[in-house]
Amino acid sequence: MDFRLTEEQRMIAETAYRIGDEFGLDYWREKDAKKEFPKELWQAVCDAGLCGVALPEEYGGAGSGMLEMALIVENLAASGGGATLGQLFMINPIFGGVTISKHGTDKMKEELLPRLIKGDLNFCMALTEARAGSNSLELKTFAEADGDGWRLNGEKIWITAVDQAEKMLVIARTKKVEEVQKRTDGLSMFMIDVKRDGLTYHPIDKVGTKTLSSCTVFFDDVRIEPEELVGTLHGGWKELLDTLNTERIVTTAGLVGAGSLALRVAVDYANERKVFGNRPVGSYQGIQFPLAQAKAEIECARLMNYKAAAQFDAGEPFGSEANAAKLIAAQAVADATERAMQAMGGMGYATESHLERLWRDARLFRFAPVSEEMILNFIAVHDLGMPRSY
Ligand SMILES: Cc1cc2nc3c(=O)[nH]c(=O)nc-3n(C[C@H](O)[C@H](O)[C@H](O)COP(=O)(O)OP(=O)(O)OC[C@H]3O[C@@H](n4cnc5c(N)ncnc54)[C@H](O)[C@@H]3O)c2cc1C
Repeated sequence: MDFRLTEEQRMIAETAYRIGDEFGLDYWREKDAKKEFPKELWQAVCDAGLCGVALPEEYGGAGSGMLEMALIVENLAASGGGATLGQLFMINPIFGGVTISKHGTDKMKEELLPRLIKGDLNFCMALTEARAGSNSLELKTFAEADGDGWRLNGEKIWITAVDQAEKMLVIARTKKVEEVQKRTDGLSMFMIDVKRDGLTYHPIDKVGTKTLSSCTVFFDDVRIEPEELVGTLHGGWKELLDTLNTERIVTTAGLVGAGSLALRVAVDYANERKVFGNRPVGSYQGIQFPLAQAKAEIECARLMNYKAAAQFDAGEPFGSEANAAKLIAAQAVADATERAMQAMGGMGYATESHLERLWRDARLFRFAPVSEEMILNFIAVHDLGMPRSY
């Protein structure tokens, strides 16, 4: 077992850090305050070829893997973006890129992947529904056959960056639950235009991750064209798991980078800050140990995430590893940002120190895109072989 990165992987990681560092913490504080999409940073990421790192070369990608993508996300997050950086990679290279490259038609690949890779096209994914919540298979949005296409009716909640997206990956029922043997049957994926008659959306005000909007979305008799089906009609659930599990890898990478950044901000401050005589507060074990514990946990999450990514790249099952890494990363980084704030005292609470944004953003990932309780359910049932509790 060799844990060393290749020379090329080290260069990719360094390039990502350098690009993120050119924008830096002040850029993110300003974007967060204005609730603005970080479009300049995203364009720089695409111009450097980093958006297409794991996408096929024939469409303009680099043809590398999920491990390289994790390295990029981690370093962009560590250089200033924090955990929300993972979401930028979710919406585009994952919701758009992985879904289309794995299950899209040749026409979709030719038309959409080169634009995605250039930074010319943003995506979003509409899976979650208010009544279904974590129980995604209870979703009610329905695409009813209509001539050669479908008519879509229903509503979604918490959809990230709809206002920036040209394309939306929608997961809908195409067969009623009563008509299928398993609840995982009868679901389909569609890649539709956001600007379309009958599709409306409204922003939700929220605690953090403010550079990316979150919206409720309504579908009122929205026409879906036949060529907008992605993958297998009625068989979309299994195919969607490629998207959801790789989403976990970039989420974890964003968290690992955010944790490193929060610790760096806190350590720099605590090593300078003196309140009783000449010793900095960073010299007290009461300040050191919580940060050291967080550092150890973040390193473990990082390694497990690399394992998940490497297994995906090798075509092996990676769901258990991706889930475990996400669980530990989200808890470790929520703790790391909380402890970092404690170590900084009042200054950690001030917007100018940047830590408060990292603290707000990190909180989201304990329950999204998948909650820690649902991951523990998964581990209990699939990895331990225990009875399903719900
Ligand atoms: C900012 C933000 C961005 C998001 N972006 C997107 C997006 O782009 N696209 C999209 O489709 N969705 C998105 N989501 C939705 C997100 O995936 C869900 O919020 C998440 O899956 C949890 O669902 P819920 O909020 O309905 O919680 P609920 O399902 O209502 O759960 C509430 C609590 O109960 C727990 N719980 C539920 N069932 C069980 C059980 N069986 N055992 C133990 N505990 C349980 C949960 O873990 C959670 O702690 C986003 C959410 C947020 C907040």
